[in-house]
Amino acid sequence: MDFDALNQRFEDASPAEILRWSWDTFADKLAIVTSFQPTGIVALSMLRTIAPRISVLTIDTGLLFESTYQFIDQIVREWDLDLVRICPEQTPQEQAETYGDALWQRDPNLCCQLRKVIPLKKALTGYQAWITGLRRDQSESRRATRIVAWDARHENVKISPFARWTEGRVWAYLESHGLPYNPLHDQNYTSIGCQPCTRAVTQDEDNRAGRWSGSPKIECGIHLPDPTRVEG
Ligand code: SF4
Repeated sequence: MDFDALNQRFEDASPAEILRWSWDTFADKLAIVTSFQPTGIVALSMLRTIAPRISVLTIDTGLLFESTYQFIDQIVREWDLDLVRICPEQTPQEQAETYGDALWQRDPNLCCQLRKVIPLKKALTGYQAWITGLRRDQSESRRATRIVAWDARHENVKISPFARWTEGRVWAYLESHGLPYNPLHDQNYTSIGCQPCTRAVTQDEDNRAGRWSGSPKIECGIHLPDPTRVEG
C-alpha cells in the first residue's frame, strides 16, 4: 500500500470519501474504534449509510461515567450498531486485589496498559484496518496525524478520516445534523475518558486538560507510535 500517495489523495478529501474508500478496500476486515465522543458520533452517523454492518469497537474499562454507559446504550439501540465491547482481563475489583486500590493514581500508565492498550491490541488482531477519531487540533502530539498510516503497534492500517477537521467543525456538523452527544459535554467535560481520570475544564484550559489532570500523562497509549514503549 502506497501510504504517501494515499495521504496526498486524501488530504483534500471529505471524511465520507475516506470512509467509503476504507470500506471498499477492507470490508469486514475494517473496524471503527470509538469512545462515542463527538468525532466518533459523526463518523458513526456517516457509516450508517456507507457501511451499516461495520464492526464498532469500544474499550469498556469498567470505569466509565454512568452517563457514558447510558449514552453508548442509547446509540447502539437507536442506530442498531454491531458493537463489540473490549474489556480488560480483570474487573476493577480484581485489579485492586492484584495491584492495590486506585492504580490510576499511583501508576496510570500501567492502569491504561492493562485496561486499554493490551485489550485493544488483542481485539484488533482480527482486523486489517481500523478507523479512529484522531484530529490534528486535539493536541501537540496529534499535530502530525496522517490520514492513512501503517500502525506498527497493531500491525494493521490506521485510518483517521477526521485528521483535518477541527473541534468547531465537528460540533457544527453535530448541530446541523441534529446528532446526539454525551450530556457530560454540557458540563464542561470536553474530552471524556474514565471517570477517575477525567474532570471538567475551565474556559481557559485546552480541551484535553481534564484528562489525567495534574500528571504529565497526555495519552492512554493506544495512539503512541512506538510499540516497544510501555507507557499507557
Ligand atoms: S484512563 Fe485512568 S482509570 Fe482509565 S485505564 Fe487509564 S489510568 Fe486507568
